[in-house]
Amino acid sequence: MNLQELSTHIAAEFQKHYGRAPRWIVAAPGRVNVIGEHTDYNDGFVLPMAIERYAIMAADISATPGKISIYDAAFKENATIDISAPVTKGSPKWSNYIRGVLCGFQNRGVTIPALDVAFMSTVPLGGGLSSSAALEVCTATLMEAATGEAIDPIEKALLAQKAEHDFAGVPCGIMDQFISALGREGHLLLLDCRTRKTELVPMSDPSVALLVINTNVKHELSGGEYAERRAQCEEAAKNLGVKSLRDVTPDQLEKGKGKLSEVIYRRARHVIGEIERTTHAAEGIRASSWPSVGNLMYASHASLRDDYEVSCQELDDVVEIAEDIGYKGGIYGCRMTGGGFGGCCVALVKTDCVDAITKKIAAEYKTKTGIDAAIFASRPAAGATIIKG
Ligand code: ADP
Ligand code: MG
Repeated sequence: MNLQELSTHIAAEFQKHYGRAPRWIVAAPGRVNVIGEHTDYNDGFVLPMAIERYAIMAADISATPGKISIYDAAFKENATIDISAPVTKGSPKWSNYIRGVLCGFQNRGVTIPALDVAFMSTVPLGGGLSSSAALEVCTATLMEAATGEAIDPIEKALLAQKAEHDFAGVPCGIMDQFISALGREGHLLLLDCRTRKTELVPMSDPSVALLVINTNVKHELSGGEYAERRAQCEEAAKNLGVKSLRDVTPDQLEKGKGKLSEVIYRRARHVIGEIERTTHAAEGIRASSWPSVGNLMYASHASLRDDYEVSCQELDDVVEIAEDIGYKGGIYGCRMTGGGFGGCCVALVKTDCVDAITKKIAAEYKTKTGIDAAIFASRPAAGATIIKG
């Protein structure tokens, strides 16, 4: 469903459930990170894109004061949130993403209106495409619509991030909420995780699209791999005498190589190289230099696989299949995206070849792994929007 169809659908769901038409409809997208992996906690750059998959809410003022009723139209489940006092954590689990945002608005001194809400999401849940940020930013956008007061989009993203920290218990960075709140149709968002400065990067050439390939595997690791990588980056920065790896150029890393163990050196080489690849990719996208952007994506994958060691067989399989299809078959580049050890790959492809590539990757991935991949294409979508109201 495109956004217009989705909007019509949620309006009908609202009408069915509450017996009247909604007054407001708002939506916020999920995202895929095109390049810039494991750079965020090193003060580096990330380059996410909003995807044409959204959390969407239809709402109206409720006759019952002090409460927000929420109907999950996909799972046919209801939640009631008490807004007459400071909003707290509660059940069901998914309501916490919403509760956290409501609490954030209360902390800004906003009186939350009593509402009836119907919602659903076309962002796959738990697939690394940030259904959580979409839900948070969608809720924040509903608050803007219902109170008639827009807030600064960066403050809005930070409020949503805080909701995820405090109410979902996930210590995420700023990327997901920033792109969902600040994305613009036909653009990627280059985000400096040190300064929080953002730059919209136009990608208006309709001949290319991003293909998201979900491996449908998630390897649970007991070793605290993520915390270990963070600690290794801190160690590298400390030994090189800088605050973070953002402050180190590839040249400086080579000069300081003697101060690092072999593993720490490779971890640092990934981060420092990836930060450089990310800014170069943004330049390449601006110039519509698709083959060079694609090569940066392949290089990013190799670095995550070999130096950072956060890939897995299935992600490597997808990238290998993409490399075999190659430029002639319409693929410029492909890489794992997200934290690693499963989840999704992202490929830069020719729009004309999307259907053929999708079929080919699905078939070959199934042959190699026995698993069905979930694959969809997206052009850079808009960030959070008030569709009605
Ligand atoms: P991701 O953000 O990559 O999808 P997370 O684990 O951060 O993965 O968030 C997934 C969780 O968000 C789900 O387990 C669920 O609790 C919640 N969630 C997000 N959107 C919805 C929705 N439309 N319906 C129910 N739960 C949702
Ligand atoms: Mg999430």
